[in-house]
Amino acid sequence: MIFDDILGLARSAGAMAEGWITPPVRLGVTGLSRAGKTVFITALVHNLLQGGRLPFFAASAQGRLIRVFLEPQPDDDVPRFAYEDHLATLTSTPPGWPESTRRISQLRLTLEYEPLGLLRRQMGTARQHIDIVDYPGEWLLDLPLLRQSYEDWSQDAIAQSREPQRAAFAAEWHGFLAGCDSAAPGVETAAMQGAELFTAYLRRCRSEPNLLSTLTPGRMLMPGDLQGSPALTFMPLDVARGTAAPHGSLHTMMARRFEAYKSHVVKPFFRDHFARLDRQIVLVDVLSAINVGPSALADLERAMTAVLQCFRPGTNSWLSSILGKRIDRILFAATKADHIHHTSHDRLEAILRHSVHKAIDRALFAGAEVKAVALAAVRATREIEAQENGEALNCIAGIPLPGERLDGQTFDGRQEIALFPGDLPPERDGTVTIPEEGAGVRFLRFRPPAVRMTGFGARASIPHIRLDRAIEFLIGDRLE
Ligand code: GDP
Repeated sequence: MIFDDILGLARSAGAMAEGWITPPVRLGVTGLSRAGKTVFITALVHNLLQGGRLPFFAASAQGRLIRVFLEPQPDDDVPRFAYEDHLATLTSTPPGWPESTRRISQLRLTLEYEPLGLLRRQMGTARQHIDIVDYPGEWLLDLPLLRQSYEDWSQDAIAQSREPQRAAFAAEWHGFLAGCDSAAPGVETAAMQGAELFTAYLRRCRSEPNLLSTLTPGRMLMPGDLQGSPALTFMPLDVARGTAAPHGSLHTMMARRFEAYKSHVVKPFFRDHFARLDRQIVLVDVLSAINVGPSALADLERAMTAVLQCFRPGTNSWLSSILGKRIDRILFAATKADHIHHTSHDRLEAILRHSVHKAIDRALFAGAEVKAVALAAVRATREIEAQENGEALNCIAGIPLPGERLDGQTFDGRQEIALFPGDLPPERDGTVTIPEEGAGVRFLRFRPPAVRMTGFGARASIPHIRLDRAIEFLIGDRLE
């Protein structure tokens, strides 16, 4: 009896110690808009809560995961990730895709598990909090601005807007700039009109079918809570590097706002949120970029280089001075792999790996463990084989979203179709060459799968591709 009590005491003390001592893992989930952040988090949380099929997530496969539940998040000043709303949309009839990430949000998930070590097992079950932090990848691209003066940034932004793949989208803003006297008195109407045209140019670069990635300032594309704020009412002016801004001029006004953007928007995000992350997944819509062509893919690589620089900034930079701990694992994930047949998944992964390695070389990056994976957080298609002229074709089948078009046909959102998505170009000598006109993959947006209810009102797990491998890499070692 006494023995039982002592053991019980030891167990609860152990559990408490685990709760107190095991520090939470802060897992950042990022990626440019439409990369798949909201879908990824919703599917990840649902699969963990419901004990979904996760054979490559060791704690789950070994039967050591005892209980998973949501808890109130620890930070009162960050909105909660709207998990229940997103899941309701995803599992409604007919199922729909949830609303995408527009600002930072957070969710705390607690995993109760049986530790691997004999000694720790004696202490009873252990608990690990996972704080999932969802934020727009566009915000990471702002880090280089901290090292730039307004005039440097202006020159770079204008030069970039004159590149062949961008110039047409910037025509209206260039027209405004040509008639703009930077030494004239700074008036609000000119600032507002210029900022609006500049933002419209950035949006056109980012939107389909262009899908460019390296665009700053990030908040102009993804304003979060700053929508319509004066902090975003600025634009580059054609002013030479090192020029002194005349007192009271438009130049002075824009330079002041640029500095305010850096100190009141960019720095607080890196200091209050980014610097506290332990692990990071960067979701990348590689398929859409390779479908546009090599220029969009090259631009995506540039964006990945900028993202990597945030994780290992130079030793003398402002960011390195505030980074208390370092992110030790970064996973780059090519999303929406269910749009292609599994025979092309390795190629998709190879293209991503190749791009990431180029970014690693360019960012002179070393330190954290970096991995690349091709996944689909939600598998919206199934695979079938079709015959064409006696030849077997690897096809996918799914229900295209209403209004999707292909070969002159518009889909109604109800009928399932079989599609030969095409093959990704093969890897040769470590490189993958994307043809100028795009990879030729037939890309349709499908409805999410119908998630059937199983007994006692429980929901079946959401089908996925390699979500479990991503979870294992990101948190597996913290559950040993
Ligand atoms: P966010 O802007 O990064 O939050 O992107 P979302 O998570 O909202 O995803 C954008 C869109 O991509 C969704 O509405 C879906 O159409 C599509 N999508 C995202 N993840 C998947 C996936 O795993 N499979 C499929 N088929 N489509 C996906």
